Amino acid sequence: MMISIKNIEKHATPFYYYDINLLRRTLETVCKNASRYGYHIHYALKANFDKRILEEIKNFGLGADCVSGGEVRASVEAGFDPKKIVFAGVGKRDDEIIYALEKGIFAFNCESLEELEVINEIAGRMHTHATVALRINPDVDPQTHKNISTGHADSKFGIAYTEIEEAMAKIDALPNISIVGLHFHIGSQILNLDVFKNLCSRVVSIMSWFSEHGIEISYINVGGGLGVDYIAPETNPIPDFDTYFKVFHDNLPLKEGQTLHFELGRSIVCQCGTLISKVLYNKKTASGKNFVLIDASMTELIRPALYDAYHRIENLSNKHGNEVYSIAGGVCESSDIFARDIELPITKRGDYLAIRSAGAYGQAMASNYNLRPLPESVYSDSFIDF
Ligand SMILES: *Cc1c(COP(=O)(O)O)cnc(C)c1O
Repeated sequence: MMISIKNIEKHATPFYYYDINLLRRTLETVCKNASRYGYHIHYALKANFDKRILEEIKNFGLGADCVSGGEVRASVEAGFDPKKIVFAGVGKRDDEIIYALEKGIFAFNCESLEELEVINEIAGRMHTHATVALRINPDVDPQTHKNISTGHADSKFGIAYTEIEEAMAKIDALPNISIVGLHFHIGSQILNLDVFKNLCSRVVSIMSWFSEHGIEISYINVGGGLGVDYIAPETNPIPDFDTYFKVFHDNLPLKEGQTLHFELGRSIVCQCGTLISKVLYNKKTASGKNFVLIDASMTELIRPALYDAYHRIENLSNKHGNEVYSIAGGVCESSDIFARDIELPITKRGDYLAIRSAGAYGQAMASNYNLRPLPESVYSDSFIDF
């Protein structure tokens, strides 16, 4: 449900508006579809770590997927069960490893051979034991934007599949860690489900290497990456989790005692978030381009500048007329543009614009660049309408 102008006027723009009802419906759908196959879901905190959002997700019993010590801390403080927390990341610092060991998280998803040694050494010093999964780079093309691809052979993520043998020999010699599983995450905003089929067939062949070598793997984590419909958020507010999980069910057979885990970020929180902004100025360039300058910018939502991402933009104040506009923010960067040459109703100073599908990697990536303040959160259920 979109926010009314009356309620927008109660807040300073720009701000993030979260539809809590849609978030809950999305979570219900994920949980229902995953439980059909006994799959486990860890929410990827980096997509959105707003406290209220975390609370809603935690209430549905999801685990957490973290990529920094700060995220491990935020998920512990939000009440996520440490036994459902997994910790990935190519550059884990010693203090982050120590903190995660203190909290007794479920598993470290390890991304290099050297990291295995460091975790072993720290666990030894702390007289504890670390459970680890190997994040393996399966060399699968996710067919998405290059800046959000992680699973091709020359990316910085994961342990090369050609290094598995060496990694296993190493783990045998490390007394303070034990391997419980395998982890894969190949990229984000993946819409072609054949990509996940390809991932499944790689996972199956890597798993058979392990069973041939007599190594038991109980935990298999296939990461996240399911995309959302940025073009038509109104028609497709909830991703097709049913078909998504079915791809894994049909292509990734599990042995007894094995559990399949997912780390979903974007697909859970993206569509419930909208960036609300006010129009400041109109201007025309020498070449005749109509610019609309708004009070939101790349410091609130960097995805268009960083990934050439498309976000649907709506004028909430006026529905009449039709004009071609480019929508830009006020930051001193030429890339601070939300959309080029889009059609909108006649748009003037004071109009409110909604930038849709901004719940994932929106507020979470906000910065103070140009000394702009961080955007606030507004929740759909914080209003009482008469
Ligand atoms: C970012 C990330 C995810 C979540 O990806 P989405 O595309 O938002 O679902 C999952 N796992 C890891 C390791 C990640 O880095």
